[in-house]
Amino acid sequence: MKICDVCGLPDELCVCEEIAREVQTVKVYTVRRRFGKLMTIVEGIDEHDIDMKELTKELKAKCACGGTAKKGQIELQGDHKKRVKEVLANMGFSSDTIEIREIDRRSNRRR
Ligand SMILES: [Zn+2]
Repeated sequence: MKICDVCGLPDELCVCEEIAREVQTVKVYTVRRRFGKLMTIVEGIDEHDIDMKELTKELKAKCACGGTAKKGQIELQGDHKKRVKEVLANMGFSSDTIEIREIDRRSNRRR
């Protein structure tokens, strides 16, 4: 019998999947890419609990922008931090655990 790492209950009793959206700690921030283009990064979503493809599709539609999902991150073209938070909250993610950062420190470093 498999035991869930999170709640310690057997798989058939585990409800972690259902509450996964509420407990995800999601980081939303922008990075500057080549040619000074801003990208919004959505990070911290557990790919095993959440359907990243569906989520990306939804975010792209709601923000009216292009984007991709890879390695547990969603990248959206442009700055959509506020909108992303709204969309995620509407989808059942807890807005308390959605952390918005102005810009990723690493990409903001001066050379
Ligand atoms: Zn569980």
